[in-house]
Amino acid sequence: MVNETGGDTLAGLADVRQRLARAASDCERDLADVTLVCVSKTFPAEAIEPVLAAGERVFGENRVQEAKQKWPGLRERFPGVSLHLIGPLQTNKVKEAVELFDVIETVDRPKLAEALAAECARSGKRPKLYVEVNTGAEPQKAGILPQEADAFIADCRNRLGLEIEGLMCIPPEGEQRSPHFALLAEIAKRNHIRVLSMGMSADFELAVQLGATHVRVGTAIFGHRTRTA
Ligand SMILES: *Cc1c(COP(=O)(O)O)cnc(C)c1O
Repeated sequence: MVNETGGDTLAGLADVRQRLARAASDCERDLADVTLVCVSKTFPAEAIEPVLAAGERVFGENRVQEAKQKWPGLRERFPGVSLHLIGPLQTNKVKEAVELFDVIETVDRPKLAEALAAECARSGKRPKLYVEVNTGAEPQKAGILPQEADAFIADCRNRLGLEIEGLMCIPPEGEQRSPHFALLAEIAKRNHIRVLSMGMSADFELAVQLGATHVRVGTAIFGHRTRTA
């Protein structure tokens, strides 16, 4: 599959796998402890198929409607897929999201946590949940503020009975990444959370070095997107 940059999706994937293996080895981590989440947002099913055929099973999408169109068909042909929601979730889409996704990485406010708790109780489904932390405290960005994270996680667990398995962050554009990755790791540690979703195409090696268990990689595999969000 030739992507828009004229590159090759399988060559991109091979390169990402190699970078990931080297990053793990450089910091003496077990490669098996880092999951590659292939971010397939904006790309059609035909572009995703070769990556599935090459053995990848963990994918990230940022829109419920788009995932609903692409993934039921792909799942039928490729069993064992784990689909992660990595984009903002509106409360009126919670029912569909719980049906479609195995992991919701963007739990970012009490209203959404409440809606997820209600839908999990109603449906009996239990997607894994990560809390998104706005590590840069950017006003336009989703996520719980770092200083509010402990209380929010406790509220999800104690009042709503939600299991919070992971934390996720998207550091601010153009800033050093390491303080953000380190901050996320620190919040996870004191809340006894094992899963850290951090690092994208440009910086996943650094994220691995700072403890990422999940890296979310789109462009380096699939090529450039024409839509940005
Ligand atoms: C698009 C997206 C990614 C992938 O970014 P790339 O730079 O293309 O690897 C990762 N995480 C989130 C939340 C995204 O929206």
